[in-house]
Amino acid sequence: MNILLVSAEYAPLAKVGGLADAVAGLAGALAARGHDVRVVLPAYGAIVDRAAEAGFRPAGGPPLALRTGTVFRRAAWLERPRATRGPRLYLLDAPEVFAGDIYDRAGGPPLALERAALLAQAALLLPQRLGWPVDIVHAHDAHAALVPVCRRLWFDAAVLPEAAISVLTIHNLAHQEIHPLDALAALGLPATALAYPGLLEFHGLANLMKGAIVAADTVNTVSPTYATETVAGAEFGCGLEGALAARGAAYRGILNGADYRSWNPRADRALPAPFSAAAIAGREHCRVALRRELGLVDVAPGRLLCGFVGRLVAQKGVELLLPLLERLAEDGLGFALLGSGDGALEERLRALADAHPGSIAFVRGFDDALARRIYGGSDLFLMPSLFEPCGLGQMYALRYGAAPIVRRTGGLADTVVDAALPDGDGFVFDDARPDALLAALRRAEALWSDRSGWAALQQRGMRRLFDWDRSAADYELMYTQAAVAGQAAGRGGHVRG
Ligand code: ADP
Repeated sequence: MNILLVSAEYAPLAKVGGLADAVAGLAGALAARGHDVRVVLPAYGAIVDRAAEAGFRPAGGPPLALRTGTVFRRAAWLERPRATRGPRLYLLDAPEVFAGDIYDRAGGPPLALERAALLAQAALLLPQRLGWPVDIVHAHDAHAALVPVCRRLWFDAAVLPEAAISVLTIHNLAHQEIHPLDALAALGLPATALAYPGLLEFHGLANLMKGAIVAADTVNTVSPTYATETVAGAEFGCGLEGALAARGAAYRGILNGADYRSWNPRADRALPAPFSAAAIAGREHCRVALRRELGLVDVAPGRLLCGFVGRLVAQKGVELLLPLLERLAEDGLGFALLGSGDGALEERLRALADAHPGSIAFVRGFDDALARRIYGGSDLFLMPSLFEPCGLGQMYALRYGAAPIVRRTGGLADTVVDAALPDGDGFVFDDARPDALLAALRRAEALWSDRSGWAALQQRGMRRLFDWDRSAADYELMYTQAAVAGQAAGRGGHVRG
């Protein structure tokens, strides 16, 4: 099949969180299964230098003139000579709109909307420009959500040359891109798309994610449990539970995989020593080195070191951890915490780390190499998320030998097996309360003192396989089913083998 993925992130070039890893992992796995995979990503100001170093150059051909309402924006494609098989990346270079960072806060909602509109138009025009008959146009998350919407509107108006199937993958339903109706009308979308019960109308506003849920030929999210949670009610559905439920069998959960070519402790150059499940000795070196690197001198060699890597936002359950940190540090446990986000959370972590410098280390920022050393040098990995569409941190922690402690929600429930079960590889708790997290930590401490029991748990975790190839096969099936349904409904859908 000819498959076009559209995303705001793509690892390693443009990464804020798991979206980047997930889209890159899926693209690679689909390409390895023989598909012609192309990916559209904005050339943000913050990444253009890195992109140039990586060999991206302006593509030939006439400049792109993209229109958002009455405003024309000049844009161009950046490409690199194709060195290997695998996905081909096209960077949309529109400096007036994509200057700055991946999620530019200064520009506010109007900029986010213009970015979404430009990305969708450019992506939908790319196949024609390449003379490449696309079968599947696959949008990821709200930033790309105008892709299925515009495809539906444009296809109905016979503007798109090819009758491609459109797909939406929801990586996080909490980010929907909600804008005033008149801001969307100004993009030139027909009034019917904005009027109740139109594609985009949402309680008197316009909701890009909702539009894509309605317009896409098929929709999925990134774990079976999160799919169930999001249709069950507003707590996880964030107001879109009805729209999702209305899609019936055309909405499903497909678990993300982990890209073990990148996340492999045997060949990870960020680690001070290589190791694997079969040759674990190097891991002890990583544990000691991490303590030294972060100045965790008060953590006795025999005590647990707990790691955390993630965006510091309410979703990640940092509020459950904060009230426990001081007491646990005084008990002799150590903490290696890496993240950035909410300023108040950053400040509280900073204060705790300042008060207990030998036991609590907090590094503010984004640091991929340190993240890898935390996965490889911690004994436990904390992921007490309030909700988690899939979560990749726990998968990486398992492979790198840090037993995850997770809340039973979304993809965490689908990937971590509690130590109480025969094939357990981590610790799972239910209630979103600090005492529930503390009880799980105490269970971990108890098992930690049983060295052979801990080693067996760790071995099981390191040998778990979250295989992108299996997930890509599920996506293939979803594409094919959507194409068959599209043909039956007279909406095109021609899928090459
Ligand atoms: P989310 O997508 O909600 O951010 P995931 O667990 O799916 O959460 O993915 C997070 C990814 O981002 C992981 O690869 C994690 O290692 C990485 N990550 C998050 N925060 C940081 C950080 N501050 N520094 C380095 N890597 C980070």
